Amino acid sequence: MRRPDPSAVLLDMDGVLFHGAQALPGAERLLASLARTPHAYVTNNPIRTPDEVANAFVAMGLPRPDRRLILTSALATARWLSRVHPGFRYFSVGAGGLDAALRAVGQPDAEDADFVIVGEGPGLDFDQLTTGINLILQQGARLIGTNPDHSVDAVRDGKRIVLPGGGALIAPFATATGVTPTIIGKPEPLLYEMALEVLGCSPGECLMIGDRPDTDIAGAERLGMWTALVRTGRFAPRRPWPKEIPAPDFDAVDLDALMSALRDSYPRLIA
Ligand SMILES: [Mg+2]
Repeated sequence: MRRPDPSAVLLDMDGVLFHGAQALPGAERLLASLARTPHAYVTNNPIRTPDEVANAFVAMGLPRPDRRLILTSALATARWLSRVHPGFRYFSVGAGGLDAALRAVGQPDAEDADFVIVGEGPGLDFDQLTTGINLILQQGARLIGTNPDHSVDAVRDGKRIVLPGGGALIAPFATATGVTPTIIGKPEPLLYEMALEVLGCSPGECLMIGDRPDTDIAGAERLGMWTALVRTGRFAPRRPWPKEIPAPDFDAVDLDALMSALRDSYPRLIA
């Protein structure tokens, strides 16, 4: 069955619109050209709240996005848990964005948690790992990870560095307990499904723009979305496409090249 033309857009942020605190070339032009197109932002990064992300856009000189359109793996985790287990009790490790999302719908309880939730971000220590694995092994708590990324790119003191991602931080819990975690972020469908619901569109009407084949593109493709890779993040120009992932509909070196390809193919999608 032929897909309808794309009429809405989902955007990954880091590696697509910015690196660290620096907007990427074309980001402002792309956002301006999407002003009349339904769009939302989807990120595996659970560290910041939507308000903090919106403030970061402004600090980088980008237009302030509507906070309701900023969908993080922390929000998707909280929403999924509140559906499968309303009023759930949890023990979590992670940053402020995950804390805020979980507190809104669940009850922190390090003694008798239903879920052990591991989010990306600094601070995981030996005591937290010990608490988490005992909740899983002795109380039957279920292990949940916000996102599967092995590592993430960052900028520290002006230098590009690599930080452990959500997948690396959940690994010690999985190793110590022998259980398989439930993962929420891309390429799993839950974050995308939340975004599609917010936009009110079907997967086939939506174009996902991302910088990572293994999460952004693989997950979107599995749901039947349109896909566009920009090679401004993790995946460098000229790097051969990984055989195990279906090639994206658009493969562009940067946002300006992508905009020009989209204007040629789907002029109604972007201004
Ligand atoms: Mg990215």
